[in-house]
Amino acid sequence: MSTYPLVRFVTSADKLAQFPADTGVEVSVAGRSNAGKSSAINAITRRKGLARTSKTPGATRLINFFELEAGRRLVDLPGYGFAAVSGEMRRHWGNLVSGYFRQRRSLRGSIVVMDVRHPLTQNDCDMLELALSRKLPVHILLTKADKLGRGAARQALSTVRREVGEGVGVQLFSSLSGDGVEEARRAIERMLDGRAAAPGAQKETPVGPADPTGEVDPALGD
Ligand code: GDP
Repeated sequence: MSTYPLVRFVTSADKLAQFPADTGVEVSVAGRSNAGKSSAINAITRRKGLARTSKTPGATRLINFFELEAGRRLVDLPGYGFAAVSGEMRRHWGNLVSGYFRQRRSLRGSIVVMDVRHPLTQNDCDMLELALSRKLPVHILLTKADKLGRGAARQALSTVRREVGEGVGVQLFSSLSGDGVEEARRAIERMLDGRAAAPGAQKETPVGPADPTGEVDPALGD
């Protein structure tokens, strides 16, 4: 059975003015270049070529919008943390992505993809802060779990869980073996439906920008 029979690419944007209409609901997917973000999107949607797996790390500067079903989107944010990109490109990335988080009213939660072997780099922590600044649910996929033995993968999972604290979801994931794909899909559906707990939130997922200044709180968990 196809999970999202109508899934389709909507548009790419490299400036805020190119974003599609801010209606319906969406979940963003972010990660360091080469962490396995495109492979994860393809595994979750069961479409091999939907998100292009990168041949050149750091080359993609665009935000890609995918429609899962009418009014429900996955938003593929450009990969970060690739050392070879110029300062100008990094600034462009920062403006585009922070603009997205500041403005996007249909955002309901964020997935952050990290290589299970090198999680929580400084860039990952900056990304988590940005996602958490909206006070929306955040769920971490520890990708390429097939590259570690069971014990080491579990160890990495509990270390990351401890580091990020209770409000953030964390799971093991492998687009190669399929482990964790269903769990990730359920996490996304919960966010889209407004059923996922936001970190530190008492009840509902807030709608609209929580911080119109765009300032990111430097405190990431405890
Ligand atoms: P992105 O830059 O974050 O979009 O990463 P890609 O999805 O393009 O993947 C980067 C590289 O990691 C590619 O060579 C993928 O084949 C590989 N890769 C992605 N996910 C997995 C995984 O779950 N297991 C393994 N072993 N390799 C993976």
